[in-house]
Amino acid sequence: MSTPWEAVIGLEVHAELATRTKIFCGCPTTFGQPPNSQVCPVCAGMPGALPVLNAEAVRMAALAGMALGGIVADRSRFDRKNYFYPDLPKGYQISQLAMPIVSGGHLDLPLEEGPKRIRLIRIHLEEDAGKLVHRGSSGLAGATHSLVDLNRAGVPLIEIVSAPDLANAEEARLYLQELRLVLLTLGVNDGRLEEGSLRCDANVSVRPAGTLALGTRVEIKNLNSFKFLQKAIESEIQRQIRRIEAGEPIVQETRLWQEDKGTTVSMRSKEDAADYRYFPDPDLPDVVLDDAWRAAVSKGLPELPAARRERGVAAGLSRSEAHQLAGDPALWHLLETVVGHGTPLRDAARWLLGEGLGCLADAGLDAEAVLDRAGGFARLIELVRAKRLATPSFRKLVRDVLVHGAEPEALAHERGLWLEPDDGSSARIVDEVLRSLPDQVAQWRSGKHQVRGFLVGQVLRALKGKGDPATVGPLVDRWLETPTAD
Ligand code: ADP
Ligand code: MG
Ligand code: ZN
Repeated sequence: MSTPWEAVIGLEVHAELATRTKIFCGCPTTFGQPPNSQVCPVCAGMPGALPVLNAEAVRMAALAGMALGGIVADRSRFDRKNYFYPDLPKGYQISQLAMPIVSGGHLDLPLEEGPKRIRLIRIHLEEDAGKLVHRGSSGLAGATHSLVDLNRAGVPLIEIVSAPDLANAEEARLYLQELRLVLLTLGVNDGRLEEGSLRCDANVSVRPAGTLALGTRVEIKNLNSFKFLQKAIESEIQRQIRRIEAGEPIVQETRLWQEDKGTTVSMRSKEDAADYRYFPDPDLPDVVLDDAWRAAVSKGLPELPAARRERGVAAGLSRSEAHQLAGDPALWHLLETVVGHGTPLRDAARWLLGEGLGCLADAGLDAEAVLDRAGGFARLIELVRAKRLATPSFRKLVRDVLVHGAEPEALAHERGLWLEPDDGSSARIVDEVLRSLPDQVAQWRSGKHQVRGFLVGQVLRALKGKGDPATVGPLVDRWLETPTAD
């Protein structure tokens, strides 16, 4: 019988900070601009150019550290990480080794059976490198020449390093999804894996199940989607198990995920910190932060996704409704704005998910675009809650209110949708309609209760759209259940 193996995974996530300008110069960070159009002597690595630290990058890194429960250091320091590669014009990357801005912290995975805590080792600040563009045939291997685009060089990054606490590929994917959501919610990263503003390396090892010593790890790079992350880890775990069972050693190395081959391939042997000849950058002073500064930054902490989901569930939403809403910070912002107009969270959430999202999708708008329509949306919900409008009328009006900014009251008036205050006329019409349908009523009385829907529908029809199933239904039930009705 073969040994049962267990996997051990730690992730290193690089997140570009959503600052307007680069970390050590004033160049803009806008994505997708013409190559080398956002470059100056500092980020191009010209001799003699001096870096000046972007305070907003420090604030964002600290905010992320606080949200993730880490300790924001009183004093942190930048180091030069030396290596030679054409995307790095200075010949070194400014990073942090011994004194990172944040130490410790954790991220709780929202597992079905309850949260699983993944510890964080550190978060440090660094600059991004430029981008190599390979030309000629497809891919690096067939390229005839390579070009360098330095627009990305010097964009601020945080690297978030987890402890090796993840037990399988699915947990790794969930970790990256939850981390992305936290960073998005904080507004410090745009979450665009496909544009490379959020990148992930996975460290994977296996060991006999139930043992404590860590096995030799392999680092997998180039994981630019949740799907690739999960597939690459699954395939790497199997590769390692096959090797160990065949008596072959695991080599500590860096491997690349190759989607077309469905496997990881060796890229290079893993470097040690010593290979990079790190030393403190003499051009940059230590970053010194005090309690007053930290207190000011912490005022910018929004409610985090886990707390939002919890509050949603406490207000009566299902777990999946709460996940859907908290999973999109713009949508949550719209929800909060509707709630701010006095609508209970549960109603606002249900109508947003049930009707609002569809309208937005059809109109090709995101939630942020209709924030100033939240008041009208809230009033529309209120009119239904107060039974001044029927539920079907909500559906008729919601698009005009949420997408086009119409006033719900004026629109209801114009379309003649106001419900009459109930003076007993609904009950009278129920009586008339049901008396005119003796066969169906007899069917109901003989136990065919599915005919109720038809009867309610006929009453609503007679009420010409001004009836509400929520009020008509009980009136019909009462009529049917009264044996004296002829
Ligand atoms: P480096 O900076 O050389 O990449 P670190 O010690 O900072 O190495 O670890 C990087 C990542 O590798 C961390 O996320 C850590 O959790 C993970 N890791 C370390 N050892 C192992 C191991 N044996 N198996 C899986 N992951 C590991
Ligand atoms: Mg590493
Ligand atoms: Zn610059």
